[in-house]
Amino acid sequence: MDARLEAIRDTVLARNPGEAEFHQAVTEVFESLGPVHDRHPEFLEGAVLERLCEPERQIIFRVPWVDDAGRFQINRGFRVEFNSALGPFKGGLRFHPSVNLGIVKFLGFEQIFKNALTGMPIGGGKGGSDFDPRGRSDAEIMRFCQSFMTELYRHIGEYTDVPAGDIGVGGREIGYLFGQYKRITNRYESGVLTGKGISWGGSLVRPEATGYGTVIFAEEMLKTRGRSFDGQRVVVSGSGNVAINAIAKAQSLGATVVACSDSSGYVVDEAGIDVALLRQIKEVERGRLKDYAARRPAVTYVDGGSVWDLDATVALPCATQNELDGGAAARLVRNGLLAVGEGANMPSTREAVAVFQDAGILFGPGKAANAGGVATSALEMQQNASRDSWSFAHTEERLTEIMVGIHDRCAATADEYGDPGNYVLGANIGGFVKVADAMLAQGLI
Ligand code: GLU
Repeated sequence: MDARLEAIRDTVLARNPGEAEFHQAVTEVFESLGPVHDRHPEFLEGAVLERLCEPERQIIFRVPWVDDAGRFQINRGFRVEFNSALGPFKGGLRFHPSVNLGIVKFLGFEQIFKNALTGMPIGGGKGGSDFDPRGRSDAEIMRFCQSFMTELYRHIGEYTDVPAGDIGVGGREIGYLFGQYKRITNRYESGVLTGKGISWGGSLVRPEATGYGTVIFAEEMLKTRGRSFDGQRVVVSGSGNVAINAIAKAQSLGATVVACSDSSGYVVDEAGIDVALLRQIKEVERGRLKDYAARRPAVTYVDGGSVWDLDATVALPCATQNELDGGAAARLVRNGLLAVGEGANMPSTREAVAVFQDAGILFGPGKAANAGGVATSALEMQQNASRDSWSFAHTEERLTEIMVGIHDRCAATADEYGDPGNYVLGANIGGFVKVADAMLAQGLI
């Protein structure tokens, strides 16, 4: 790392002790930015990096709620409003027991660059709670969401901060959150949340967008080597919204997705995952992959273990951060891997990324490859602002244009900075320069 940047990075780490994932995300971005600061000394003079690493505002709050047995429960809520240089803070809410300030800050930091890469007018933020939705009844989920919004409502708004979903937060939760926001504020403010239901201000394609976008990005990477998804053997991790839609899109392009996983294990389905059955089990029944294996002959269910033990030509990690380490990366590379598209946020460890890059594997980092979700959220905001709703075909076409645009911008930036094919460099520099220019133009704030 450039010595000037390393000094700033060390200060950031020292000021934010114990936030391992935030440290990782900052280090990974700083490693790309040396050459930009040679060309743009004004970024150092303007303390752009120091400002970028300090969120504009961080909110931590108590979320009290009553479970079905009548017991009082207390969780912790977060919203980190990281950077509003390009637009209102924008990013999802994650409900998962692993959520803490360091996780929210890593996600919010990544979101700044991701959102900049989309070319849409959105800043970066993230939030969530250590609430565990697993095994909770619908009524408990509703009471939790209502309590969460009873604090959050005062910090968000169409022009201020626009939350959406992430792990543990989907259409159902956005519905309860929106209902409570409307009730407290007495405003039908569609643009305050994205990922809404289609009959009350949501956008078609938003549910599919992250998974579809990841595959569109990976397809563009494959094209640079004269390949495509057609005929590829694909392994996907996760079986949530991002994974399911990545599987659907990859198979529509002629790939065979042979496996996906949940936190208990994974299924191997050599004939290709049956997406309709997977949707039924995960989205309708809210069940587990074990149920998928039980209902489909010739499918193997592996209890525990890692889906990265399987061979693949394309790997799409769509589960969570740091799920693919250096050892797994090396094994995949030895067994014929061509490309990786990150559907999750920071699923590959820094060691894994280094293995992929050293081996010349096409590697699409999450902040570029999974930007289709938030980009389509921005399309939802556009539709809300004009009180319009677009067709599936039109919205999908916009998503495709945006993903191809992100791919091309990352590739062109990597070329410009002398490291062709390095999408990590391209994404970090491409996102950063846009935000840095806007920050300098807006003065010291
Ligand atoms: N949570 C998603 C992400 O990581 C989507 C955020 C949004 O739609 O605002 O980008």
